[in-house]
Amino acid sequence: MALLEIRDLRAGYGAAEVLHGVELTVETGGTTALLGANGAGKTTTLRALCGMIRRRGEIVFDGLDITGLSTERIARLGVAHVPQGRGSLANLSVRDNMMVGALLRRDRSAVRGDLDRCLAMFPALAKRVKAAAGTMSGGEQQMLAICRALMSRPKLLVLDEPSLGLAPVITRRVFDALLGFRAEWGVSMLVVEQNANLALGMADRASVLEFGRVVVAGPAAEIAGRDDVRRAYLGT
Ligand code: ATP
Repeated sequence: MALLEIRDLRAGYGAAEVLHGVELTVETGGTTALLGANGAGKTTTLRALCGMIRRRGEIVFDGLDITGLSTERIARLGVAHVPQGRGSLANLSVRDNMMVGALLRRDRSAVRGDLDRCLAMFPALAKRVKAAAGTMSGGEQQMLAICRALMSRPKLLVLDEPSLGLAPVITRRVFDALLGFRAEWGVSMLVVEQNANLALGMADRASVLEFGRVVVAGPAAEIAGRDDVRRAYLGT
């Protein structure tokens, strides 16, 4: 069953329409990779899904039409967004940044358990729980942003270019942790990634955007094996 079903999504900025009818599916427990060149509309799709910009069409999440809902309502329903640039609160400690993600939760002992699990998954953060987030490296801030999102115990984790600016070894660490959380917590994912191989390697479905439209969609393994798609859209 689909956890997220996007149909004929139109969205943009001011008078300019950037998405011209995007279709996208994330299966329950699955991962969908959203690929495409710079400027294709990947970030805009995530912003529209999370309610950050005006949009039309149909976004059905967990059986509910969320197209017209506020960002806060959408977050409360279980969609957690890890934006590009990560958005940590620089003056708050690593631990407090993580706890921001759990602000809506009442189950304090479960929250503590989840915090411990996040820190175990990212030892680099565990070593510096009291440090101000602004003093952390780019890779650590990416880990922190993922943990903050996970601390809300989302049904869907929405990731915008998690590998951006990271060294390969750090990128691997981040993706391994994502795989770990997916296995342990059953969190579904929608991931935008420039690194198509990385994204296709962890996804079960993929959609390729070009100029605000999905031009290719299907099983990730199938798309990974198509040289024509790789050459035309993925730069690999
Ligand atoms: P990238 O990998 O470069 O982030 P993308 O596929 O995520 O690319 P978007 O960021 O969604 O692409 O951008 C799609 C189009 O929308 C681009 O033409 C871009 O110039 C435009 N755009 C993005 N953000 C804004 C904004 N805040 N205001 C106006 N136009 C924008």
